[in-house]
Amino acid sequence: MPLKERPFWLDTTSIPAGDPVVPLPETVDVAVIGGGFTGLSAALALSRRGAKVAVLEAETFGWGASSRNGGMVLTGLKKGPETLIARYGLETARRLYAASLASIDCVEQIVKAEGIACDFSRTGHLEVAVKAKHFEGFKRSAEMIAREFKHTVRVVEKKDLQTEIGSGIYHGGLVDETSAGLNPARYVAGLRQAAARAGAQLHDHTRVERIERRTGNAAYRIATSRGSLDTRAVFVATSGYTGNATPALQRRIVPIGSYIIVTEPLPEDIATTVSPRDRMIYDSKNFLYYYRLTPDRRMLFGGRAAFFPETANTVRKSAELLHQGMLSVYPILRDLRVEYVWGGTLDFAFDIMPHAGELDGLFYALGYAGHGVAMATYLGTKMAAVISGDAHANPFEGLPFPRAPLGLYNGRPWFLPLGAAWYKFLDWVC
Ligand SMILES: Cc1cc2nc3c(=O)[nH]c(=O)nc-3n(C[C@H](O)[C@H](O)[C@H](O)COP(=O)(O)OP(=O)(O)OC[C@H]3O[C@@H](n4cnc5c(N)ncnc54)[C@H](O)[C@@H]3O)c2cc1C
Repeated sequence: MPLKERPFWLDTTSIPAGDPVVPLPETVDVAVIGGGFTGLSAALALSRRGAKVAVLEAETFGWGASSRNGGMVLTGLKKGPETLIARYGLETARRLYAASLASIDCVEQIVKAEGIACDFSRTGHLEVAVKAKHFEGFKRSAEMIAREFKHTVRVVEKKDLQTEIGSGIYHGGLVDETSAGLNPARYVAGLRQAAARAGAQLHDHTRVERIERRTGNAAYRIATSRGSLDTRAVFVATSGYTGNATPALQRRIVPIGSYIIVTEPLPEDIATTVSPRDRMIYDSKNFLYYYRLTPDRRMLFGGRAAFFPETANTVRKSAELLHQGMLSVYPILRDLRVEYVWGGTLDFAFDIMPHAGELDGLFYALGYAGHGVAMATYLGTKMAAVISGDAHANPFEGLPFPRAPLGLYNGRPWFLPLGAAWYKFLDWVC
């Protein structure tokens, strides 16, 4: 069977398209740009509050990272507890960490309330240490998370690791039972249906080209590839695909490629050997691998095999590199056929933190850095509350949102090859 160069998840569901002949409304309360987890969860919450909402999606709903990810619904942020406390102080760090826990509940609550059949399951996550000193760091983190954030994560010594993972290459692990897994394409399809049921108007193949400030009742006129509309408020939910329609955000977000392969279904005895507890697994490198079993027991194995956003070329190269990576973790999978490969684009802010708030009058939430299945849903929902007038609903309110040092970035990531080399170097020495 030839290798399929498309997300495996899209072969498990179909995401309903918009109606191409339905015209754009003349005026709305809120125009949401981007139809992934962030935009659709915001549209759902805003519509439930009675706002007239239009979601404008350049491609099809879920086309971005939301249908291409690993489906890991993870607690915590990319930055660990020590960095959070050192950077923001204890009180803010507590608020941000609590938001990461609340984000899992938020996804679960929407899945239940909207009856979304997306295999949501609280199977927990396992972080594995590629070096002994990383494992020492795990112990410090676990202690700090318990003491300062009152949350329990469990350290797993190397000698006990086979109860969690069928690989002998790691120095220990850290388990958080709160995390979950889901099928992201089914989830985003369910969010789309829920937003439509709540009354949101959904327009795909509608690229926002320009946003003009107006005076009077409608604060903005939005020019799209299918005509214009007026709106009181704009919510930008474009993540790693943020472009020049919102230049101030584009300059603050670096798009970085991430890639995934999926094998044929594993025989059950091999599936239970490689992942006895069905965890969402990722390692402690900067250039990390993340992997899990899919609900139909395939191995899904991802990583930043190339730093650049996806092209046919980077996707093909990644298939080979990730296959080698998978066999270095699990030699037992050597006879398994790889059936799928695809790539998607992550959104990194310069401080590697999520950001949500208002910039130049536009509301936004983005910067999830590969940790956005839960956080995108949560911040979409929270920003809906902010837009509706609940000024302090956003736990990330007030966090500085840095631009590149010395203004060295205009939205074109010329430094990515250097960044990739730097990360590889860090993994070698740290
Ligand atoms: C390969 C991969 C694996 C990942 N794995 C995980 C994981 O396991 N766990 C986890 O927590 N996170 C993971 N992530 C990250 C997670 O998928 C994202 O953080 C999340 O999907 C972001 O959702 P979003 O709605 O903000 O953005 P997206 O889903 O990327 O949606 C943005 C949308 O905006 C649209 N758009 C852009 N510009 C315009 C415009 N001008 N007009 C109209 N529309 C526009 C795009 O077409 C796109 O559909 C992964 C990401 C990738 C790429």
